[in-house]
Amino acid sequence: MFLDIKELAVRKARIQKTYPAGTIDFHSSEFRQVDPLEVRATAELLDGQIRISGHLHTRIELVCSRCLETVVEEVSRDYDLFYQPATTIAQEEKVHLKSDDTEIGFFQGDGLFLADVLAEQVNLAIPMKVICRSDCRGLCPHCGMNLNSEECRCEIQKTDPRLAPLARFKQDWSKKQ
Ligand SMILES: [Zn+2]
Ligand SMILES: [Zn+2]
Repeated sequence: MFLDIKELAVRKARIQKTYPAGTIDFHSSEFRQVDPLEVRATAELLDGQIRISGHLHTRIELVCSRCLETVVEEVSRDYDLFYQPATTIAQEEKVHLKSDDTEIGFFQGDGLFLADVLAEQVNLAIPMKVICRSDCRGLCPHCGMNLNSEECRCEIQKTDPRLAPLARFKQDWSKKQ
């Protein structure tokens, strides 16, 4: 859905829409949408800026950063966003500015796609580090086994492979004495 400033200048748009999984490009390989994305939004033109406010809800699948198993997280987010025409500001200033609880973004040409706005909001809702559960034991650094489900034998063998060359060096040195 394209939000056109010429149409928004006539009347504000009230949007209620469902995006099935796979219809929005999130520009991320870190997660995927597993439930339809439900969105309610109001879009209007306010002093030359596009204001989009509303709510979105979906569920996404990510990978636990410790054990690499998949984790499903709920994304439920309210937003109130302002977009300025990109032509009014210098190219290098095209960064997202934060002022209190509103964010300012930019649009090119006649408007912007709602899907792009939603993709950005979902990306912002993703936690920096996802863990399947607080006591996730992760993978064994030696054999790669998932320690949540199995015990590996690596803990019994105490030698750290990184110290092996040092141990050899010490051995050679003591032989020379
Ligand atoms: Zn985990
Ligand atoms: Zn192991």
